[in-house]
Amino acid sequence: MKLSGQCLCGAVRYSGEGDPVFQVKCYCTDCRRVSAAGHAAMMGFPAEAIQVAGEVKEFHSTADSGSDVSRAFCPVCGSGLFAHGSAMPGLIFLRASTLDDPNLFTPQMVVWAARAPHWDPVPAGLPAFAERPAGL
Ligand SMILES: [Zn+2]
Ligand SMILES: [Zn+2]
Repeated sequence: MKLSGQCLCGAVRYSGEGDPVFQVKCYCTDCRRVSAAGHAAMMGFPAEAIQVAGEVKEFHSTADSGSDVSRAFCPVCGSGLFAHGSAMPGLIFLRASTLDDPNLFTPQMVVWAARAPHWDPVPAGLPAFAERPAGL
């Protein structure tokens, strides 16, 4: 697929072409906080498939899995744009909410479903892990 997206103010844009390695809705506490929603919708791509234009700031934290996660956001408007982590080197995780066409995102699974708030329920019909699957 061809895709593009940007932050709220447009100071950071990205584009790319390729097939997502995976597409996930994550309800972990960190994703809930940083996404300002009940969960984060993310698409993983090989990092070289995505070109980013504009300057981002990165926030580093340790995930529940113990791996290091870096989340990039626009320093002007604060929109979260993408993340990468030591658990899956070489991949970039775009926030589907920043896509120009958000319908390009087709969730394949749900992780940390046990943490879903009642106002953002886990969709029926998707494989859902109560926590995280091994290796993620
Ligand atoms: Zn911005
Ligand atoms: Zn998460």
